[in-house]
Amino acid sequence: MGDEYMNLVSRVQQIAIQHPEKIAYHFMGADTTYAEFEQSVERFATALRSLGIEKGDHVGFLLGNSPHFLISLYATMRLGATAVPINPIYSPDEISYIVKNSDAKAIIALDALLPLVEKAVGIFTSVENYIICETQADTVEKFAALPDLLKAKVKSFSFLVTTTTADAKPVEVSEDDTAVILYTSGTTGHPKGAMLTYRNIYSNARDVAEYLSINTEDRVITTLPVFHVFALTVVVNAPLLVGATLLLVPKFSPQDVFNIAKEHKATIFAGVPTMFNFLYQYPEGEAEDFSTIRLAISGGSSLPVALLHNFEDKFNVRVSEGYGLSEASPVTCFNPIDRERKPGSIGTNIVNVENKVVNELGEEVPIGEVGELIVKGPNVMKGYYKMPEETENAIRNGWLYTGDLARQDEEGYFYIVDRKKDMIIVGGYNVYPREVEEVLFGHPGIVEAAVVGVPDPNFGEEVLAFVVKKDTSLTEEQLHDYCAEKLAKYKVPKKFEFLEELPKNTTGKILRRSLRGQTV
Ligand code: AMP
Repeated sequence: MGDEYMNLVSRVQQIAIQHPEKIAYHFMGADTTYAEFEQSVERFATALRSLGIEKGDHVGFLLGNSPHFLISLYATMRLGATAVPINPIYSPDEISYIVKNSDAKAIIALDALLPLVEKAVGIFTSVENYIICETQADTVEKFAALPDLLKAKVKSFSFLVTTTTADAKPVEVSEDDTAVILYTSGTTGHPKGAMLTYRNIYSNARDVAEYLSINTEDRVITTLPVFHVFALTVVVNAPLLVGATLLLVPKFSPQDVFNIAKEHKATIFAGVPTMFNFLYQYPEGEAEDFSTIRLAISGGSSLPVALLHNFEDKFNVRVSEGYGLSEASPVTCFNPIDRERKPGSIGTNIVNVENKVVNELGEEVPIGEVGELIVKGPNVMKGYYKMPEETENAIRNGWLYTGDLARQDEEGYFYIVDRKKDMIIVGGYNVYPREVEEVLFGHPGIVEAAVVGVPDPNFGEEVLAFVVKKDTSLTEEQLHDYCAEKLAKYKVPKKFEFLEELPKNTTGKILRRSLRGQTV
């Protein structure tokens, strides 16, 4: 399979010339064509350049799912600069760490963050400009009320985009220049900035589009948060590079997803398993709402097999699970759309990417055996920003060590067993939380569940389950008996705690660390 490289910015420019009237994205009742998108990108790039942003500079984004993000991303890349998307609802401390660590020279932020920006101006010496995106009616007045010191540094996004005369030709970049730095929560300490090159992000978007046949006719629901790598590649860059249409949903809700799917005849939905669960549990959701969806994509964490079947049965749509991580831009594996899809599996190698399961010595283990999943391909990051040691540890002999435990079957399908660090050891036996959670998800009286290991004086660790009940009469004893029927004794949770909901991060992943915190 070929691996020729093209810059994403040039690709979108090409589509704007060939199909100017094609809708690039839909947002809150309005459509924007590729020609209009390209024009906004060029204007904003020109504005950024006049503010001093040059090739190699870093630009932080504190933005959600809106056109501001798409325009900012493509304008930054047009200048050969580096985008640093940050989760806008991180705490001020988390944001502060990333802004400082990334050496951002400018920040583009939602207007809701104006109070934070006001405080930041005196603190972040590297940041020369703050560009505020207007989403609320009173933002203009708030601008007028800013003290003079701030006015010099704070600019209006819409003013820049509407008044600048476009003349920013794309700056030439090498495919190994850094296009995006994505901060990913490390196993310990602060998040690390994965540097993804222009080639990394282009190749993964292209290879995912090819593998899943994402094409110009597709209308893709973009509700995953765009600052996260799953959204960035699968529901932003891949559809844009084939000239498809993004249906931007600012904030995930089952009602909004069903509405937009119906109204715009959406063809692709991508979500994390918790989104699948919310859609499935939503009482008013019907098969008819998803009747135009040809492909539902799950990734980000493991999709319980019972949920996959329930979802497919209820909505009559094929669900394909894939796997990835920020450091691999992110996708490495997917269930194919033209061959068998295997529930519980993350599928096979996507185009141009190799996956392998290895032991502690880095040697490939026999089929069926569990080891660490390692990955090689044009999608693997350059390294962590300013962290050479962490980089050396993550990439060895050209292979990215994922920290996930997996096995492979005879037909080349991979199965994630668990994260290496989430494995629980009970009296010397390995317990993979996922295995226990799959059993719990199969219980009709349970909405969702997660298990963690807790210290035990006799066995080293014990299994503790957190459960959200659908059937309020369900007791701990009943659950214990149910698990004892299906699992080896040492895997059966010692204790069940009932919660109203499970703690999740903004991408919908269950926060095991926070659950562990609840046990002490
Ligand atoms: P992030 O860098 O935030 O995208 O997180 C990547 C991690 O998410 C991986 O290392 C896995 O632990 C987990 N992950 C992603 N997709 C899956 C999947 N389909 N099944 C299980 N874990 C997954």
